[in-house]
Amino acid sequence: MASHIVGYPRMGPKRELKFALESFWDGKSSSEDLEKVAAGLRSSIWKQMADAGIKYIPSNTFSYYDQVLDTTAMLGAVPPRYGWTGGEIGFDVYFPMARGNASVPAMEMTKCHYIVPELGPDVKFSYASRKAVNEYKEAKSLGVDTVPVLVGPVSFLLLSKAAKGVEKSFPLLSLIDKILPVYKEVIAELKAAGASWIQFDEPTLVKDLNSHQLQAFSHAYSELESSLSGLNVLTETYFADVPAEVFKTVTTLKGVTALGFDLVRGSKTLDLIKSGFPSEKYLFAGVVDGRNIWANDLASSLSTLQALENLVGKVDLVNETKLDEEIKSWLAFAAQKLVEVNALAKALAGQKDEAATLKGSDHRRATTVSARLEAQQKKLNLPALPTTTIGSFPQTLELRKVRREYKANKISEEAYVKYITEEISKVVKLQEELDIDVLVHGEPERNDMVEYFGEQLSGFAFTANGWVQSYGSRCVKPPIIYGDVSRPKPMTVFWSSLAQNMSKHPMKGMLTGPVTILNWSFVRDDQPRFSLLSFDTDEVEDLEKAGINVIQIDEAALREGLPLRKSEEAFYLNWAVHSFRITNVGVQDTTQIHTHMCYSNFNDIIHSIIDMDADVITIENSRSDEQLLSVFREGVTYGAGIGPGVYDIHSPRIPSTEEIADRISKMLAVLDTNILWVNPDCGLKTRKYTEVNPALSNMVAAAKLLRAQL
Ligand code: GLN
Ligand code: ZN
Repeated sequence: MASHIVGYPRMGPKRELKFALESFWDGKSSSEDLEKVAAGLRSSIWKQMADAGIKYIPSNTFSYYDQVLDTTAMLGAVPPRYGWTGGEIGFDVYFPMARGNASVPAMEMTKCHYIVPELGPDVKFSYASRKAVNEYKEAKSLGVDTVPVLVGPVSFLLLSKAAKGVEKSFPLLSLIDKILPVYKEVIAELKAAGASWIQFDEPTLVKDLNSHQLQAFSHAYSELESSLSGLNVLTETYFADVPAEVFKTVTTLKGVTALGFDLVRGSKTLDLIKSGFPSEKYLFAGVVDGRNIWANDLASSLSTLQALENLVGKVDLVNETKLDEEIKSWLAFAAQKLVEVNALAKALAGQKDEAATLKGSDHRRATTVSARLEAQQKKLNLPALPTTTIGSFPQTLELRKVRREYKANKISEEAYVKYITEEISKVVKLQEELDIDVLVHGEPERNDMVEYFGEQLSGFAFTANGWVQSYGSRCVKPPIIYGDVSRPKPMTVFWSSLAQNMSKHPMKGMLTGPVTILNWSFVRDDQPRFSLLSFDTDEVEDLEKAGINVIQIDEAALREGLPLRKSEEAFYLNWAVHSFRITNVGVQDTTQIHTHMCYSNFNDIIHSIIDMDADVITIENSRSDEQLLSVFREGVTYGAGIGPGVYDIHSPRIPSTEEIADRISKMLAVLDTNILWVNPDCGLKTRKYTEVNPALSNMVAAAKLLRAQL
């Protein structure tokens, strides 16, 4: 048996790529500087894997942003607004697609943090980024013969959306014959460069595919078969069990000589393999969990492998992470978030009984949301279309430094409190000057929305460098939950009440919700998750007692945790909705509970969102072409407050007043005036004040413009 690694982290152990990207984006370093850092990271990981004795080492798993965007570039599928005129795609086209620039907004980013390809009948595909071949050659020149990895052609199309102006119902899969010629060129170049293996990542193969979609897989591989001849071809699936129908299709794909399955998340695939795996193909058995940090249960992996060996002649290859300690930790970490999907669904399966109990006791506020909103309005006295922000304000280098020094005991608590108090005071004054209605304290004391809470709860552990990529250059360091969770003392009351005392405007208390904390932590598989939930309930109660009338409980990652398979969705959503409701079931009617959710595409879970029974939800929206609004247009009954983000905070671009006003009027066409809030898409932490000040000023101006027309 030989070992294989499906993918690897690209940020670098100390987030070298992040810093290189941000410095390049800020114009502080050249493209050569950035390329040099990137090449250094690639070479060190290839060498480490080679030294660790890994036989099948991947290439083209590095990315400056994400692999789906890389594939869009490879295929030359650049939307016209980015002004690309042909030739090899460079940073000047690639980064504007990812992040926008002063004149064009970015492409949509989806919940799994990839940039969604926009395709239509007129897209001209051409071989426009030689990244896969270049990386293969680069590794080879370092003495490492790698397995180049490509996003499979059908998965690429299934991850795309119809471009603006193209019918939503446009059959994306009909483009398959247009992209295959580009794939053939890439394959030919890889062969010519000496590759003997090629890996196609087909993550969509764990989804519930219909026969038309399955047919597209068979068709694509048949078309590629002659180009692939002479190569070993691995089709890799991951993150869940493969449905039986899909298994039938993948085991008969033409040209494919090896199949990779995730045997950690789900046991059904193993049964399918046992009942019939083609004897002439290699099996890549995924037995080491790349998405959790807990040591692999070697005994159980071993017995899986033994069982396979008895059944399949050629179980030759095993994904494993027998690497030295350092690389092992960050390798496993990054794999977890490489493509962000549900961390919960599978591990939850064992705890369904507990969930049933939870469901039985219906934790829900006693009154209806409309009655509560009325009571709250009496107290808060807000104008129509109230303005607010999502919580964080820009975190300057100086602020980060102060926090770091305080943590390292280099400055006193007194000096720290003084600094943070001043920071809050600046943020409060700024919001008053901007005439925002519901204020926030700006979260200057928080380094990360999960870590901040984890550090104050017992049962959490932290790593120094366990960074995982969130998207682009953004990284997070998920905490590790190792024991029972409890809250020794209030976590946010000090800063929130201090901030409230600085202003007559309502100040939003700001908490991270339980679902998000669990989704963004490494939780031991054997831990009963339902026992981990009560900390926010106590915190909400304490905030209310301290006179905070508006409390936001962020569930940024609720959508992200949605299982890949339909059959598991209901269970997850039920659990998530209940977990959220428990946090605020006991508050008075006059206390306004907000929640905030990141990522687009809420249409399929809108009923669960409503069932969360929050008074107001602010929701990321501006990058998804008003998909959200279409739900309301189709007549979903909705009575709670809602603030679909009016501008994209992921981009440095400053939206104009007219543009925001236009967005708000579109919202008013579908939503009642008295429930609509005006706010950005998400927190402002990663933006600069030079971007935030004019953007918020335009946002408030737009709200006022529309108020005047009511
Ligand atoms: N309150 C958080 C902030 O503004 C929410 C962040 C998020 O949703 N990711 O930073
Ligand atoms: Zn958000």
